[in-house]
Amino acid sequence: MKGATPDLFDLQQKPQQREDVDDGCVVLRGFVDDSGAVVAAIDGVVAAAPLRKMSTPSGTMSVAMTNCGALGWTADRSGYRYAPTDPTTTTPWPPLPAALSTLATTAAQAAGYPGFLPDTCLINEYLPGASMGLHQDKNERDRSAPIVSVSLGLPAVFLWGGAQRTAPTKKLRLEHGDVVVFGGPSRLCFHGVQ
Ligand code: FE
Repeated sequence: MKGATPDLFDLQQKPQQREDVDDGCVVLRGFVDDSGAVVAAIDGVVAAAPLRKMSTPSGTMSVAMTNCGALGWTADRSGYRYAPTDPTTTTPWPPLPAALSTLATTAAQAAGYPGFLPDTCLINEYLPGASMGLHQDKNERDRSAPIVSVSLGLPAVFLWGGAQRTAPTKKLRLEHGDVVVFGGPSRLCFHGVQ
């Protein structure tokens, strides 16, 4: 795991690993340098707050999800919201592990968003056949904070759209250890997983 504040030298070591996708959206290829620690942290969260397929107003998601941190993103038949407790266990979400919060802070800094301190982490498990339709991340109160998305495991195709749902989408192949960061002018862009 990198330190909380990688210096300029660290960032200059990997200039080829940064891909600018859009104004405010960056892919950091292979940014996760200790995926074992990250996976262990996720395993700890999942043990306390099991992955589950949430219902939504329009059906049931194909992706299994859980959360850690002060708040967690949840859905049910009535809508989407952040809540301090896990509706399935009725206890608070597990704490945000340092391996995850440090990774988010360092990735955000590398992408041009210094000083990011996450208070939640949504964990999505995509088994073969699972997908995520185009959507905006808009349940967060503070949209000055970027979204940091870490890919682990099998490759997947990330769909990157625009401000409108009907905008053309770019297909980005994300591999184990890649991190996507989007904020600023990209913060409310539509995105999904094929
Ligand atoms: Fe999203």
